[in-house]
Amino acid sequence: MLSLSHFILQPASSTKVSRLLSIDPRLVSHRERVHGTAYNADMGTNPGAILDQATAVDAWLLQGAVVVASSDRAARALQAQFHRRRRAKGLLAWPAPQCIDWTTFVRTEWEERNTDGRLLLNPAQELAVWSEIVHSEQHLPTALPASVRRLAVMAIEAHDLVCTYAPQLLREQARAGWDQDAGAFSRWLADFDRRCRKDGLVSSSRLALELISMLRADPSSRNPLRLAGFDRIPPVQRELFDAWGEWRTFEFQPIQAETHFHSVRDVHTELESCAYWCHRQVAANPGARLLVITQEQAKRRGEIERAFLRFTSPAEKPAFEFSLGVPLTELPFARSALLLLRWLQGTLSETELDWLFASGFAGSAEECAALQSAMRTLRQRDMQRPQWHLEKFLNQTPIASLLPREWTRRIIGAQRSLREAPHAQSPTEWADAVPHLLERIGWLGSIPQTSVDFQAQRRWNQALDIAGSLGFDGRSVSWGDFLFDLGHAAQDILFAPQSVDAPIQITGPAESAGLDADAIWFLGADEESWPAVASTHPFLPSHVQREFEMPHSSHIKDWDFSATITARLLASAPLVQFSFALQRDDVESRPSRLITGVVGAPQPVSAELLPPQHQEPATIAIEDFSKKPYRGERLQGGAAVLSYQSQCPFKAFATARLGARGWDAAENGLSAKQRGELLHDVLHSIWSGRPRGIKNDRDLLAIKDLARFVGDHVKHAMESGVPAQVRDQMPPMYLQLEQSRLVRLVTSWLEFEKTRVPFAVEATEAQSSITIAGLRMHLRLDRVDRLHDGSQLVIDYKTGTVDPKAWDLPRPDDVQLPLYKLFGLAPLQQSLFDNFGGPVSGGLVFARVRTGETCFAGRVADARATINPDLNGNSSLVKRRLTAAEESDWKEHIEKLAEDFIHGRAEVNPRDYPTTCARCGLQPVCRIQEPENRARFEQQYLEQNNGSDE
Ligand code: SF4
Repeated sequence: MLSLSHFILQPASSTKVSRLLSIDPRLVSHRERVHGTAYNADMGTNPGAILDQATAVDAWLLQGAVVVASSDRAARALQAQFHRRRRAKGLLAWPAPQCIDWTTFVRTEWEERNTDGRLLLNPAQELAVWSEIVHSEQHLPTALPASVRRLAVMAIEAHDLVCTYAPQLLREQARAGWDQDAGAFSRWLADFDRRCRKDGLVSSSRLALELISMLRADPSSRNPLRLAGFDRIPPVQRELFDAWGEWRTFEFQPIQAETHFHSVRDVHTELESCAYWCHRQVAANPGARLLVITQEQAKRRGEIERAFLRFTSPAEKPAFEFSLGVPLTELPFARSALLLLRWLQGTLSETELDWLFASGFAGSAEECAALQSAMRTLRQRDMQRPQWHLEKFLNQTPIASLLPREWTRRIIGAQRSLREAPHAQSPTEWADAVPHLLERIGWLGSIPQTSVDFQAQRRWNQALDIAGSLGFDGRSVSWGDFLFDLGHAAQDILFAPQSVDAPIQITGPAESAGLDADAIWFLGADEESWPAVASTHPFLPSHVQREFEMPHSSHIKDWDFSATITARLLASAPLVQFSFALQRDDVESRPSRLITGVVGAPQPVSAELLPPQHQEPATIAIEDFSKKPYRGERLQGGAAVLSYQSQCPFKAFATARLGARGWDAAENGLSAKQRGELLHDVLHSIWSGRPRGIKNDRDLLAIKDLARFVGDHVKHAMESGVPAQVRDQMPPMYLQLEQSRLVRLVTSWLEFEKTRVPFAVEATEAQSSITIAGLRMHLRLDRVDRLHDGSQLVIDYKTGTVDPKAWDLPRPDDVQLPLYKLFGLAPLQQSLFDNFGGPVSGGLVFARVRTGETCFAGRVADARATINPDLNGNSSLVKRRLTAAEESDWKEHIEKLAEDFIHGRAEVNPRDYPTTCARCGLQPVCRIQEPENRARFEQQYLEQNNGSDE
């Protein structure tokens, strides 16, 4: 144990616990109660000197006596402490300490005495029994397995509470008055008892009760017990220890702990201050043992890990450990196995496939690279699906030839083995089949590379054993049901690599029972979080929970329990720091009254505890003015490249020259893009002239049954235009609905066109090749109309929200239509419009083909004369005429954009941060999200907006 002098401290406030304990009578009385009842009736008073906790436990273990710890975690910590002390004495070998956790103690003693051959249910088996009971009681054969499972888990908790706090309620008559949810639980409990009696089963929650009777029936003397880390001793535990014989908890010399209570600006700074302080203590004294207590170990694990790693150099081993593991399913090792097994018979989502192929477990490195490339190909061809069946994936035309042959052969072989197995068989048989299937697929997890891999593999085997053990009642299940249970078994196993006894232990308040340290930092000591409160159990009547003093049965109970933990923590280290954040989730928070009562009011955290500013990155930032001129290599993305150049030069560079693309997640049914393409196909078909289509307003007005005319074109377009994957996955009714929707939309658009001044359609989907400032581009114009005055109108169909303001100089968001009008028309004049001879200016418009919003939006030289004489004077088509000056400015700007692109101008400079970036998708490439870049553009954005307000 270190003395306080090992710590460099400049306390903001410091108080002696012994004095402060007298401030809170509830806390004092609880401490007295705990310590005052430490001896059972046979023991008299404490005969020996009171030592500090570690020394007392060590002395007891050294005598070869037994210590029962409250939890597995506490038992391991005490064992580690015992070994540390022996090593410190220079010993090479010593007897193993007899330190055992409560659960193992009860089970071992029960197994030694039980001779009736009943099966002790493991947690998965018990859950299966309760699930069956819940399912049958509900009379809902269609109830979802997940909901049944949730109810069964709650029933197990309620059963455990009854066994631990009120065993007299296990008699059915004692629960006679229970109604509603409690009544349902009472019936389930009666069923559970009948089932256990009939099939010779026993729940682990009943072992303590049975062991009490066995001990009472056995008068032989037993070794005395010492208890460590019990913050509370429920009635049944107390009864069991009394039946055992001699027992007592350890008495500790009260430590005059130095305490501090810090208020910190926000939770992030609070965490970093703690990590920084711990890091300095360990650096100053590598032998220091520190405890960090947090109630948010699971929720904020990543954040905590990052904060502590911030002060660990890359060459060092991390000096911290979490007491809580992560669910096995969060390990790539186990998740990849579960996904592969599921894919043999079911489907995987697109994101699951992406993850699987990137995990490195689905096959060799080359195979995984080829599989990822296949996914990219699917996206490039717009063939993504929300769910993929294995066969569909393997046989998909553009990728079938790209898939690694050996991998395909292996996974098909595994699938065949599974198909050859019976439809339903015992979970044990399925569990035996899993390693063979995974090996057949070539799953890389079968070959552990490191010690942690090896430990994870053992836990995976444990999950398989648990899932296999569900065959205890002779049931047969399908592969799908077996995988459901295997997934849950893996989810319930918390994996933590074997402890290396790191100097900083990060743990929860209750889990810290039995641990002591040189110093403790308790995070999150605010009013909302400490005392920790929770609600009563919904399956037990509230008055019963209050009567038997079950956990969370009242606020006073919660307060008392948290006060006990606080007192225990204060007795576990010579220095205890508490902290809380003044701001949490954008809400102001106040200090915990419990902590304030014990250690005094919080003080602002001192400057020396605050973490230093984040270091400058090791990389050196330089302004990169170098440019890689465009040499005429393949240009990807078509005409959009100049719009991108205007939106953000880097976006143009990355998409057109590097082929970078954000990707759209697959959707069920038609995507917005596919719907837009179908609309284009229909309108192209309608306006492409005879024999099936029409060419001008006269043709349109002559159509008698417009809906039928449109319906024929829509049918034709959908027959050839709906992608195969949509046909496969969607029912015919869906496509009929899409067809009707499209007919309505196009019909209403043509009704709008009927109101126009006479016009003729000169071209639809016209191809035009142009060169601007040396940049060659191929354009495709949706439509060009000849207007009444002989001028031309360039039309672009849009189903989404579009606004011609996007063309506004000096930095347009979109230059596509100006580009078509000012550069794309000229080549068409020669090839298509031989008879061209009218005025050049006509207009450029978006055709908004949207339900309830069919109109033109854009610039026209004279809208009333060429589009519609009845247009309102407030219409932007009338108000903002197209002028020669505007055309000239656009032309100049577009040429400048093309020059910039050719010269390789590619700086990250979004036109309108963050809106431009939100619809870009290239953030991982341009790294705009990095704090420095973000801060720069946020500042720019604020300046622009403040400027515009003024
Ligand atoms: S995300 Fe923003 S900064 Fe990055 S390339 Fe796209 S537009 Fe430019």
